[in-house]
Amino acid sequence: MSEQRFVLAGVMGWPVAHTRSPVIHNHWIAKHGLKGAYVQLPVQPDRLEAAIRGLPALGFAGCNITVPHKVNAMQLMDELHPQARRIAAINTVVVQPDGRLLGVNNDGIGYIQSLRDANPGWRGDAGPALVLGAGGAARAIVVALLDEGVPELRITNRTLEKAQALKDAFGDRVTVVPWAERNQAMAGVSLLVNTTTQGMHGQPALDVQLDDLPASAMVSDAIYIPLETPLLAAARQRGHQTVNGLGMLLNQARPAFQAWFGVLPEITPELRAAVQATF
Ligand code: NAP
Repeated sequence: MSEQRFVLAGVMGWPVAHTRSPVIHNHWIAKHGLKGAYVQLPVQPDRLEAAIRGLPALGFAGCNITVPHKVNAMQLMDELHPQARRIAAINTVVVQPDGRLLGVNNDGIGYIQSLRDANPGWRGDAGPALVLGAGGAARAIVVALLDEGVPELRITNRTLEKAQALKDAFGDRVTVVPWAERNQAMAGVSLLVNTTTQGMHGQPALDVQLDDLPASAMVSDAIYIPLETPLLAAARQRGHQTVNGLGMLLNQARPAFQAWFGVLPEITPELRAAVQATF
């Protein structure tokens, strides 16, 4: 009888102490009775290449990549998933049987799945979307929304050039809105998403007014601490369907776990409770 291999995975970042990924993956390892562990991999930027190249030799099935390594780690991959190439950043490394490194970015599909979990009938082509912010999370979400057929994607960001860079990268369906016009840009949208850091624990609330937002619009936030940001609270009070960032975090983890451990795990109430207990 062959022994089940002990599978190692982890999250590489600097720092990594704040990440909830170990709670998620170790929950699934235990739930499925697997032999393995998911560990924190604090790696300073100047040691990233050595750390990434060491993964196969150390017996890692792969790892997640978080801030500040998402772009630089991509350069070290042998192969890139097409969506990771378009996002121009990775959040997951999969060590293939021959030792080659595959770079993947599941943030965008995790975001889309979080919308579908909240509203199974959600369709990208239902109407325009407004994205607040133009950083790393925005880029993944923009690519995923365009892939879902969003007909018009408005992007507004405090630093206009970064929104313009997304338009330059992704073309005709993207329009850039000056930050000062963000409230008026809500007119006619069917989806509003915050990808800025504003509203996160320890940060001021996002400065927006929802008066022009159609009543039918869904409002989502990439932030998951707190679960209900001031934006989501205001949207809920106006009767909008709201989606917090925890679903994005949990849903990006599922395909990574499957790639490393060979099992597609489920997002259960126990898992949500285990993660929320760390907030
Ligand atoms: P990032 O690349 O640093 O981008 C930060 C964004 O916030 C930029 O658009 C920035 O605008 C904007 N911003 C910062 N301070 C601002 C202010 N005072 N007023 C207006 N805009 C401001 O960060 P990121 O990696 O995209 O992360 C953004 C958020 O998404 C974080 O809260 C993070 O926790 C969350 N996130 C969640 C998940 C998930 O799985 N749920 C995954 C990734 C990220 P400028 O360009 O003008 O600086």
